[in-house]
Amino acid sequence: MPAEDVTPHEISLAVWDLPSPLVVGRSAKMKVGAKCSAGCPLTGQDVEIHNKTEVSGRGTLGPTPWPGTSALYWAEVDLDAPAAEGTHCWEVALTASARESAHERTSSSFGFIAVPPPELCLIVKVTEKKTDVPVRDVEVRLGPHRGSTDDLGSAKVELPKGAYDLVVWKLGYRALEKAVEVMADTTVQVEIELEPEPEQEYWMG
Ligand SMILES: [Zn+2]
Repeated sequence: MPAEDVTPHEISLAVWDLPSPLVVGRSAKMKVGAKCSAGCPLTGQDVEIHNKTEVSGRGTLGPTPWPGTSALYWAEVDLDAPAAEGTHCWEVALTASARESAHERTSSSFGFIAVPPPELCLIVKVTEKKTDVPVRDVEVRLGPHRGSTDDLGSAKVELPKGAYDLVVWKLGYRALEKAVEVMADTTVQVEIELEPEPEQEYWMG
């Protein structure tokens, strides 16, 4: 970067693969990416996760952009979940580098939910109604607790005791909602049907 170029480039920050919910006091992994408006390689730049008072995670952007993007440089960051349950809003920041002037410190906020350590394990087994074949990559949600089915159509969700609306969804299938009460480790079987219409719904979380 030439020394006379002092106009800062615009940095966009993204976070993904953050588990939902986080469990209070546990560590977790998430991905942080940064992209420069001018497409600069950002390899070696440091990123930090901040809660209100301190740094909760740190990483250094890696050598290659995220697959399918031209210049989204990324890092996997270990983070310490908060000690308090509830909704949290934290900050992700690309720290300023002393070596060059084009990129200023940039930050962005992200929200998540932290819950008490789960007490129970619910297994949700999903099959296709007509064929009885297990369905993989089905999203399973019970409030903030999420999972997705594996190759055997089985999803494991850890959660506290309680009554939940179990929502089961996969693109191309009819969404299914079912009230469940989870009082012990248990398995729930659900059948989903292929969506007859070509229109597809997208789940806006
Ligand atoms: Zn740049």
